[in-house]
Amino acid sequence: MKSLFQATDLYQYAVLCDFDGTISEKDVTDTLLEHFGNDTCIQLEKQWQEGMIGSRECMRQQIANMDASLSELDNVLTTIRIDPAFSKFIHLARNMHLNVHIVSDGLDYAIRSILNRYGYDFLPVYANRLLHNQQRGWQLEFPYANEHCLKASGNCKCQHRQKLFGFQKVFYVGDGTSDFCVADKVDLVFAKDKLIDFCQQRGIQYYPIQDFGDVAAILPNLIEEPVENYCLSPA
Ligand SMILES: [Mg+2]
Ligand SMILES: [Zn+2]
Repeated sequence: MKSLFQATDLYQYAVLCDFDGTISEKDVTDTLLEHFGNDTCIQLEKQWQEGMIGSRECMRQQIANMDASLSELDNVLTTIRIDPAFSKFIHLARNMHLNVHIVSDGLDYAIRSILNRYGYDFLPVYANRLLHNQQRGWQLEFPYANEHCLKASGNCKCQHRQKLFGFQKVFYVGDGTSDFCVADKVDLVFAKDKLIDFCQQRGIQYYPIQDFGDVAAILPNLIEEPVENYCLSPA
């Protein structure tokens, strides 16, 4: 059976993509908490921002404080749009046989439902597991947590990176703090927002992007170029 984690003759390159703020225009968890969260959720967010708790503990408690029926939650999900240029990137990925994985510290059910709406149900998603108790209660589980991850995220992306085997190059597309632990473990980062500053500070090879249109435009030129030749302090 073909493993998604292993390179094949045809699939020599992998692209890991963050979801919230990278593929989706808005952060899904934040959007759901705006609709269904309570004051405790806001307190938890502050504690996370101040570094008192990791994102895993923060989200675990926030999701447990959410009050929504399944259909209410589904309704809000239908309002979340994705980057209009994502289709260009997926087209390229098909033509160039890129092995695309979505690695997210967000909610698997939400991500799948949004991707399904756009016809991208074939993309593998690795995220935290959102569970519904059949009434108005919700719970988050962390099948990809890693005690050794510096970020104490729900889904440790650096661990996911380590599972990839035999690829000539691994690229990463992301925008925020959940991408920090993996950014220095790939060949090249396509970065938005906070991730740009992080890469700059750490001397990590990155390319700043506005959206997936930039990834689709740049990636074909970089793919066969030796990593040493990357000259990435773009003006
Ligand atoms: Mg993000
Ligand atoms: Zn990690």
